[in-house]
Amino acid sequence: MNADIIIVGAGLYGLTIAQQIVEHNATTRVQIIDVRDHIGGNAYSYVDKETGAEIHKYGAHLFHTSDERVWNYVNRFTKFTNYVHRVYTTHNNEVFPLPINLGTINQFFRACYTPAQARELVERQAGEYADVTPSNLNEQGIKLIGKPLYEAFIKNYTAKQWQTDPNLLPASIIRRLPVRFTYNNRYFKDTWEGLPADGYTAWFERMIDNPRITVTLGTDFFDTTQPLNKEALVGTVPVVYTGPIDRYFNYSLGTLKWRTVDFKEVRYDEDDHFGCPVMNFADADVPYTRAIEFKHFNPERSDRQNHDKTVVWYEYSRFAGRDDDPYYPVNTDGDKKMLAGYRAMAQSEPNVVFGGRLGQYAYFDMWATIDSALTAYEEKIAPMLA
Ligand code: FAD
Ligand code: UDP
Repeated sequence: MNADIIIVGAGLYGLTIAQQIVEHNATTRVQIIDVRDHIGGNAYSYVDKETGAEIHKYGAHLFHTSDERVWNYVNRFTKFTNYVHRVYTTHNNEVFPLPINLGTINQFFRACYTPAQARELVERQAGEYADVTPSNLNEQGIKLIGKPLYEAFIKNYTAKQWQTDPNLLPASIIRRLPVRFTYNNRYFKDTWEGLPADGYTAWFERMIDNPRITVTLGTDFFDTTQPLNKEALVGTVPVVYTGPIDRYFNYSLGTLKWRTVDFKEVRYDEDDHFGCPVMNFADADVPYTRAIEFKHFNPERSDRQNHDKTVVWYEYSRFAGRDDDPYYPVNTDGDKKMLAGYRAMAQSEPNVVFGGRLGQYAYFDMWATIDSALTAYEEKIAPMLA
């Protein structure tokens, strides 16, 4: 191998590390491998020929951050559109705006509450949870919006999404959704948001546009029939590993639980099927959690889109087997204990840095993935290369 360091995984974590290495070291050569046939990891997208929509192959990806270092960093490689994410939800044959805001509350209760009245109502409806420090998703949800709204918009959606007792799920899953006592229905609360103006792939290609970075696709780190494998490399060259941490140790302590999503594609002979980019389905009798109508992510490309057709992906959530794409870490207490064991084992691996959402078994938004890669470069990889 003609490289000074190997990166396993061409997702945002691996790409950021590679970019930082060649930027800060004049001669270091980087080899990236990925088992998939494209770079970009789960944020990869492609343009659908029939409709002109940019399809996010592993689920809708919207960039948002309040972190100035990350915002400045990503803007070096792509311009962002002024897209603002908005989501609606269908409940009992009625469409409501999300995240839960004064519009949702007044429509649900057929009322015209002021912000103060709505706050007071929610607090009353939170009952015994109003004053507790929530220790799980159930308590957090009821505390945030009270029981009736929780039961309408969160309980069944969460049951479909996680198939796990909400008393066993971390409160953080739902804490990232804002609840507003105004009519503002911006889905994210971050300072900056947008979509890469010429698509995710163009952004990612620019990050690693350097002759000292080599990318080899379709290559599994655990496949000993090819030379860029774990047995051959660990201990001989520094490795940044962004695959699943339990897989690295051959599941010796057990399998960490993940949720995956199956996408069902439907094409409609009309310009617009939902009138919005994302429609959630809050009720238990609808088997899918949400539908993504990709066209709406890029209204600025209207002149390049087919106005007689649209493509929608319906999402069905289920537990991931070892061969499925791991999407959402379930993170029960059992998982946390197992993870602590794997992390202890990772510390004794010679010159291997475990990173990214799979290597750390964590749900990271894109900005957090980039942030943790920038920090890992400074704190772990630069010293290792020196
Ligand atoms: P990944 O993107 O998963 O990349 C890891 C790479 O490692 C993969 O390409 C994989 O093929 C490769 N790999 C694994 N094992 C091996 C092996 N043995 N050999 C070789 N290669 C291997 N973030 C947002 O900011 N906004 C969003 O709207 C958003 N939506 C999301 C929706 C879904 C459904 C999911 C699952 C995530 C979403 N995210 C979103 C999070 C975002 O996907 C992550 O922050 C980002 O992809 C993490 O990058 P990563 O490099 O850590 O992991
Ligand atoms: N959620 C919900 N109802 C909704 C939207 C979200 O109950 O209509 C809950 C659900 O538990 C979900 C979590 O809030 O897993 C986070 O929602 P988000 O939209 O951030 O999910 P993601 O985009 O990560 O799938």
